[in-house]
Amino acid sequence: MEHSYHGDTIGTMSVGARGVFNAAYEPLLFEVDTIPFPAAGREQETLDRFEAVSRDRRAAALIVEPLVLGAGGMLMYPASVLTELKRIAEASGTLLIADEVMTGWGRTGTMFACEQASISPDILCTSKGLTGGIIPLAATLATDAIFQAHYSEDRKKTFFHSSSYTANPIACAAALANVEIWRDEPVAERIAALSAMQAAGLRRFRDNPYFADSRATGTIAALDLRQLCRTRWRGADPRPFGRQAG
Ligand SMILES: *Cc1c(COP(=O)(O)O)cnc(C)c1O
Repeated sequence: MEHSYHGDTIGTMSVGARGVFNAAYEPLLFEVDTIPFPAAGREQETLDRFEAVSRDRRAAALIVEPLVLGAGGMLMYPASVLTELKRIAEASGTLLIADEVMTGWGRTGTMFACEQASISPDILCTSKGLTGGIIPLAATLATDAIFQAHYSEDRKKTFFHSSSYTANPIACAAALANVEIWRDEPVAERIAALSAMQAAGLRRFRDNPYFADSRATGTIAALDLRQLCRTRWRGADPRPFGRQAG
């Protein structure tokens, strides 16, 4: 999806937005199809494009950051779009990969963002919040069908490409502690309290001409800083000539 970020390996850079951060690797990146970001009022364009790509090109998979594109500028889209993307994916046999590295563990208001769209992705990536964000650990979840398709007793079929610290015991202990917090502590109430506080904070910017597009999903609140022309300072009309994620 346009503006997406999925990481810094060759594969993840290939499926993420191209730009200054990965320009040096451009010759090595795989070609992928991109669907537009479902901006407000233009959601149907995204769905139509995905429908066309999955029908004509037999796409292997669609990878998306569900509900919120983090590095792309905290861009938000409604859960209904995600529900529709999953419906189209299912109809065409395209796998849906939910990159919940940033959105997982309560950030969007639910444990995983996909819950709000009432969908189960075929593959779900979780990391950052898995340990409460304090130590690196990632997990890739897959449906039973995908797991079984890769499972083999044949050593030649082993996934040999892991890394030295895979399943690092200290990281796993931190993740287990985080899971206990989710199980035993009033996490939902804390998320609700944070969301309410942030919503109140955001309201204060609503009529401020220096900020635009204040928005929130769960505990993620964002607004864009308007860059105003110099002429603004001499009393002319404010004419924003660029936007940056705030
Ligand atoms: C941070 C981030 C990643 C990268 O995760 P790494 O574990 O650093 O590879 C991938 N996807 C999203 C959505 C992220 O926010």
